[in-house]
Amino acid sequence: MLKKHVEHKLKTGAQFKASLDDGRQLWVNGRKLEKVTDEPALAAGVDLLASMFDDQFTETFAQATTYRDPHSGAIVSRAWQVPETRQDLEDRRQMIEYTSLKTAGTFGRPPDLAPAIAVGLKAYLPTFKKKKSTFDGCQPDFAENIERYLEYGRDNNLTASESLAGPQTDRSSPKAGEASLLRVKSIEKGGIRVSGAKTVGSIAAQANEIFFTNLGGIQETPPEACIWGSIPINAEGIKLISREMVSQPGSDPFDHPIAHKGEEADQFIIFDNVFVPTERIFNLGDPTAMQYYGPVCVFAHWHVLTRLAVKAELFVGAGQMVLDVLGTGRIPAVQAMLGELIEYAQTLRAFIYAAEAKATLTEGEVLAPDVGMLTAGRLYSIQHYPRIIHILQELCGQGLVMRFGKAAFDNPEIGHHLRDLLVGHNASAMEKEQLMNFIWDMTTGALAGRVALFENVNSSPAPRLRARLYEEVKRDKFVDQVKKLAGLA
Ligand SMILES: Cc1cc2nc3c(=O)[nH]c(=O)nc-3n(C[C@H](O)[C@H](O)[C@H](O)COP(=O)(O)OP(=O)(O)OC[C@H]3O[C@@H](n4cnc5c(N)ncnc54)[C@H](O)[C@@H]3O)c2cc1C
Repeated sequence: MLKKHVEHKLKTGAQFKASLDDGRQLWVNGRKLEKVTDEPALAAGVDLLASMFDDQFTETFAQATTYRDPHSGAIVSRAWQVPETRQDLEDRRQMIEYTSLKTAGTFGRPPDLAPAIAVGLKAYLPTFKKKKSTFDGCQPDFAENIERYLEYGRDNNLTASESLAGPQTDRSSPKAGEASLLRVKSIEKGGIRVSGAKTVGSIAAQANEIFFTNLGGIQETPPEACIWGSIPINAEGIKLISREMVSQPGSDPFDHPIAHKGEEADQFIIFDNVFVPTERIFNLGDPTAMQYYGPVCVFAHWHVLTRLAVKAELFVGAGQMVLDVLGTGRIPAVQAMLGELIEYAQTLRAFIYAAEAKATLTEGEVLAPDVGMLTAGRLYSIQHYPRIIHILQELCGQGLVMRFGKAAFDNPEIGHHLRDLLVGHNASAMEKEQLMNFIWDMTTGALAGRVALFENVNSSPAPRLRARLYEEVKRDKFVDQVKKLAGLA
């Protein structure tokens, strides 16, 4: 435990939970909730997040989740650490690995994700220092605001959702997409008012803040829609409309080892004339700042790939255990299938290590992983994900479907049949089923279905990643090599 006299700026799990009871406007299945914890799946997810806050105070997890802020000397959450050295990057990766393991990779937006975007803004501080608001009457100092926000998040052990993507409308019509962009409606003393909507704000209902922009890459974003900013979730005019729940809170942990822990729920977020204070604005009206989506999100994308690598290693572990309990490990074809899972996990790790090894200091003196390696790794990770899931399912055979639940094993009339007739290789029938239940939650059930869809598009679908590779990875050196070898130089 953290010693009592050590100064810290950390929330306990209970304090985190209390911070969510703030009058936020939230609907699930068309029903307005008094509190986020009134919905069992959201409440279970909140409990899981709260346990991460409590872990900060334990000896086991303190190193991964906290660090000493060199400026204040206080112990603070590592989620807000700005990496300046290779060691900082490795330390911060430990936190990503910790939050990924804690949720078995099912939360793509755990508390250390959105701060990674604030860190990305800091990486380009000199650029944001030069940028000016194009709106008379509201002239924020973007760079100062970015620094202040990082300090505020660090001092308050804050969690946020990053809500960048816009609602899905008619993609053939630029006007349709533009209609739902967040836009400045008016300038007021001390800030601006914005209206519009953000879509799939994962974890928003269970966080303190919304970190928002209109996703970069939009051609000719109108100046009034060129905004980066952050506001509390309970800001007046914010409405969160939740998608349907997919986890199984309240189920027996034997039956659903992962799905009983709840979920991060994705929210459709309405902004109805919401006040954004001047000091929470990081861009206003400048279309060129919107092109910084890629560079600013580099730490978030490093997070996404690292979480996928942690999950890939869980798939390898689960696959090995299937071979062990079914006794199929001596069959060459089965070994080859596990080999494919191992190849996937090792490849994702290699991309992460390469991105870190090739990290460079940005203009803001932040050490940023190499974007070309990350984009290639993310593309590889999502292209192979469906096949990896399929292989793990295949290794399980009937066991993945023929699951009966703890109540069936406990039933005196039928339980002994299941226990006697479904014994595995050096494993009881119940141990075998528990493993299959874990794999079901990770690959096949409704929670796994949502996670698979999330992996596929959450930080750009594959076609866009290919386009980014084309833009970002320099080829001149390769072209020169070919010219020399072909005698074309
Ligand atoms: C479960 C889930 C959680 C998410 N969480 C978040 C979050 O927390 N924050 C956030 O900001 N966003 C989040 N996203 C949204 C994600 O960023 C978008 O889904 C993604 O950017 C793709 O946009 P779209 O879904 O609007 O696809 P659309 O624009 O509607 O396009 C549909 C498909 O058409 C293809 N396509 C469209 N345009 C192009 C193009 N120009 N080039 C090539 N192919 C194209 C792609 O295959 C794409 O998937 C989440 C999405 C999901 C499913």
